[in-house]
Formats: sequence, C-alpha cells, structure tokens
Amino acid sequence: MELPREPLKPLTVSDAPVEKFREFLEIRGEKLTDRRRVLVEHVFNSHKHFDADELVRDLHDAGQKVSRATVYRTLRLLVEAGLLRELRLTNRSAFEHDYGYPTHDHLHCTSCHRVVEFRNDEILRLRDAISRAHGFRPSGHRFLIEGVCPTCSRSHSPRRRLDLI
Ligand SMILES: [Zn+2]
Ligand SMILES: [Zn+2]
Repeated sequence: MELPREPLKPLTVSDAPVEKFREFLEIRGEKLTDRRRVLVEHVFNSHKHFDADELVRDLHDAGQKVSRATVYRTLRLLVEAGLLRELRLTNRSAFEHDYGYPTHDHLHCTSCHRVVEFRNDEILRLRDAISRAHGFRPSGHRFLIEGVCPTCSRSHSPRRRLDLI
C-alpha cells in the first residue's frame, strides 16, 4: 500500500486565532494583553512543533519583550482554549496548532529529534472502532512513531562508515 507523504495544509477557519483567544479569555474574565496578542500572532504565523524555551528565544530574537512566565502561562491557556495542542515527545514537550489544522500524527527521530507529520485514515477508523467497542466517544488520540529518520540512518549505516576509511 502506497501512503501519501505530502505535507499537511492548514484548514480554512472563519475566526482568526487571536479572536478565538480573546473570546476564551473574556469568558474567564481575563484580558488579551498586548503581550499575549504578540505571542499568539507569532505562534500562528507558521506551523511548527516548538517548545516553550524555543518560543522565548524566538520572541526575544524578534525583539519582543515577553517574559518567560508570560510565555509559559499563555501556552497553557492556548492549550486550554483548544488553539494549541501539546505533544509529548520522548525528550520534551512540544506545542503545535490545533485550531485550523487537520488531525494528524507524528514520527519522531530519536537521533536528530526531527518531527514528521502524517495523516492516515486507517488510524482514524481504527480509533473509532476501538472506541465504539468500549462505548467511548473519542475526542482525540495520540499516536507517535519513534525511530530513526532516513538522514540519520544513512549517516549511521555500516556502508557509509566503510566509505570513510
Ligand atoms: Zn534523524
Ligand atoms: Zn504536528
């Protein structure tokens, strides 16, 4: 069976993430501060898998003064609001867009820590069938393949080592 390998495309959504977040905060009686807005706009600029410290660095490099505490707390709120999804990888916890992005799963290279996304309908069907059998209504799932990516396996292959001698 040939499986598709093209990158996933964002979905079209009617509300901007920052507006969704504003609504979520309002319900909790909190305000969308300038710092939070900057953070949300930065995060939703491009789809990637990032951790909190990476985001602190990125914002700093972009000349934005957002404290580490604000970054950590806002990330938590964005997960709660359903805008971001937390991804537990072998060595760290990463975040990525949930809002406006299709359901997908990941491959994680344990050597270079690259994260690759894929979508597979078989997994979704299986998830639903297992849930049905247990009387569950699924709201999400985690499926992570750990292993070695093509680049890392090439550079560690015995043939390559012999070439170097
Ligand atoms: Zn790798
Ligand atoms: Zn992903």
